[in-house]
Formats: sequence, C-alpha cells, structure tokens
Amino acid sequence: MKPIVTIRDLQKTYNTAAGPVEVLKGVNVEVYPGEMASIMGPSGCGKSTLLCILGMLQPASSGFYEIMGCDVMDLNAKKSAEFRRDNLGFVLQSCNLFEHSTVYENLEYPLIYGKISKSHRAKVIRRALEQVDLTHRVHHPTNRLSGGEQQRVAIARALVNKPAVILGDEPTGQLDNKTGDAIMECFKNVVSNKARAVILVTHDTEIARQCDRQFILTDGVLKEE
Ligand code: ADP
Ligand code: MG
Repeated sequence: MKPIVTIRDLQKTYNTAAGPVEVLKGVNVEVYPGEMASIMGPSGCGKSTLLCILGMLQPASSGFYEIMGCDVMDLNAKKSAEFRRDNLGFVLQSCNLFEHSTVYENLEYPLIYGKISKSHRAKVIRRALEQVDLTHRVHHPTNRLSGGEQQRVAIARALVNKPAVILGDEPTGQLDNKTGDAIMECFKNVVSNKARAVILVTHDTEIARQCDRQFILTDGVLKEE
C-alpha cells in the first residue's frame, strides 16, 4: 500500500526581529490510508506549525511533502488552493460553524463553493451525516445542538468534499471525556473504509491511545512511540 502522506526532512524556520526561530528541524513521516495518527508534544514545540504545513496553510522552509503521490510543495498558489479544497479537511477546537444556519446549510456551503449540483449536494450531505450519526438533526439550527453534536457537524463538514486527509487541532479539547469518545468513534468510522487518514494534534494521552500511530514532536523532530 502506498502512503497517503509522505514527509521527508521537513524544516521550518520563522524569521523574527529577534533572529531565526528553528521550529521543525527535519520531520520525517509516512501515514497510510486507514490510519489515525496522533501528534503530542509540549506547548510551543511546533505542533500547530506542523499541522498548518500539513494542511497547506503555510509553506515549509525546506523538505519534501507528498499527498497521494502529488508533490504539493511544487504547486502554484491557485493549484495549491484547489488541491487543499479537494483533498484536505479541517476540524478545529472550536467548530467554526455558522451558528444561525442549520446543520444542512453548514454542510452545503463548501459544496456550493465546489460547484456541486443541488441534488448531488443532498446526497453527499446525507452520507456525511450518516457517518457521524446525526441524520436526525439535519434541519436543526446548529446553535441548538450540544457541544459534541456541533463537533460532529464540523467533522461531517470536513467530510463532504471527500478529503483524503483530515487534520484535527485539539478537536476534543473543549469536550468532556464521554463526548470526546463519541468524536473519536466518528473519526474511527471515517478511516474504516481505508480510503482516508486522520491526523490529530492532542494533549490528551487517552485520545492518543485510541490512535493507530502515536507521534511525539520534540526538539523539532517527530518520534513514533
Ligand atoms: P505548539 O502548537 O506546539 O504550541 P506552535 O507551532 O504554535 O507550537 O509554535 C512553535 C514555536 O514557533 C513557538 O516558539 C512559537 O512562538 C513560534 N512561532 C509560531 N508561529 C510563529 C510566527 N508566525 N512567527 C514567529 N514565530 C512563530
Ligand atoms: Mg498549538
């Protein structure tokens, strides 16, 4: 099986007024379809930096990064934005939903943006909500949902474009343990057909323990547990 994500000798240095800050000093990793990986590490070690680079939201200073065989560091700005829209999904600590819109509308926005027809949108939304067990809430305004349900909507929204890789930055950070477990069940469901990978930054060892692969970022490099 080919990796879905390949990173080789990835480096990131921020140039600041006080001089260069070397954050990533040669990160190497391969993640395979069907895997759920966690990244832990002390505050300030570069987890968000790495996740932003993985999400193509900021450039690395040097190194190699391939998603599904595509050398994504080689894409121009337009191609890069398209690739991100079509292949990456994000789930953040706060869900960033449009709270006065319904669940359906929240899932529909990225599809309208992706120029998907109305009838196809309905199918795709239904499928995404099935994966997070929320079909019964489809026409609810999102601000009437519990925190856990809102986070499941955020996962469903990340799924509608059928991304190859889903990236989470502390996606269970604001939830109680039981709700966090329900979210982890959703992620497990997302990778179960072996078509996708999920990469989660977390400070919670219990969440990390539920992942197939566990990484720690220290001193600018990624070590597998
Ligand atoms: P973590 O998410 O693990 O807490 P970050 O990736 O946010 O760590 O930050 C890693 C280091 O890089 C920190 O020392 C932080 O101050 C620094 N850093 C992050 N973003 C920038 C930036 N845009 N410019 C300069 N330094 C930054
Ligand atoms: Mg961070």
